[in-house]
Amino acid sequence: MKRNFSLLPDRKFDLLVCGGGIYGAWTAYDAALRGLSVAIVEQGDWAGATSSASSKLIHGGLRYLETYDFKLVRKAIQERQRLLELAPHRVWPLRFGVPVYRDSRIGTLQLKAGLMLYDFLAGRPGEIMSDAGIAHRHFDRAAFSERFPALARDGLKGGFTYGDAQTDDARLVLELIAGAMSAGAVCVNYCRLTGLVEAGGLVCGATVRDQIDDKSAQIFSRQTVYTAGQWTSASQPGREWCRLSKGVHLVMPGTMTDEALLLTAKSDGRVFFMIPWYGMTLL
Ligand SMILES: Cc1cc2nc3c(=O)[nH]c(=O)nc-3n(C[C@H](O)[C@H](O)[C@H](O)COP(=O)(O)OP(=O)(O)OC[C@H]3O[C@@H](n4cnc5c(N)ncnc54)[C@H](O)[C@@H]3O)c2cc1C
Repeated sequence: MKRNFSLLPDRKFDLLVCGGGIYGAWTAYDAALRGLSVAIVEQGDWAGATSSASSKLIHGGLRYLETYDFKLVRKAIQERQRLLELAPHRVWPLRFGVPVYRDSRIGTLQLKAGLMLYDFLAGRPGEIMSDAGIAHRHFDRAAFSERFPALARDGLKGGFTYGDAQTDDARLVLELIAGAMSAGAVCVNYCRLTGLVEAGGLVCGATVRDQIDDKSAQIFSRQTVYTAGQWTSASQPGREWCRLSKGVHLVMPGTMTDEALLLTAKSDGRVFFMIPWYGMTLL
């Protein structure tokens, strides 16, 4: 992929996308495939922010069942299936284990009901997912300990496994940018959007600065999409209601093999994952 800032100045595009994370990359790729003329600018490197620092999961959102968000879970599961089919080299099935301890907030029956619903919402399991066994399974204490030997055994009653999916988030973004470029989009990283150009109260373009050569230019666009992630709230006045939150990952020596764990922190009941990640474990 070669950046070419000189393709931007004074051109008029159907769509200008600001921000080269997963949202910007998908938007540019999708629009370019639909035949629109597209430009996407990213102030740093592609996926240089949150989109390379996620937990790498393409999941249906099991936890949203607790808040009865069935529509959201169903939609996320459908998207998961679509990605498994469209990009099997980038999105692969991953099985999760969920232990049940004597003092677990969610007991065996409630978890069983949730996992049955999760499987049900997946509807047609699809060949790819069924290879990994989408349907949940229950294990007694001994069998679950044997499957996940790193888990504490004190108070362990047993556990379940269920199917979800994993990706390499940064590479997924890079692949979308490469795809957008192949479909004709102008994709320039190290290029910062510094201001919007308005005419008659409508946004009709933007000023951008080449972060490498320190040149500025104007671009014109029929539509502008701002997929700037956390910068959206930080840079917009009147968005005090929008609070930034932070997540932390630890990369540890590999204790997980080919299955992940969904665990609950004893201190505050928050859910976290232990995920196999290129021979290491991502916590
Ligand atoms: C800890 C954590 C774990 C997560 N785990 C998962 C998960 O497992 N699965 C999942 O689906 N989701 C997960 N998410 C959510 C997911 O990672 C985010 O929703 C997603 O990455 C956001 O993408 P984005 O494109 O909106 O933002 P970003 O990836 O932040 O991209 C925005 C880009 O805009 C650029 N930008 C900003 N201002 C400008 C400007 N003026 N000019 C040019 N470029 C600009 C930035 O440099 C940045 O690269 C997780 C989130 C967190 C925080």
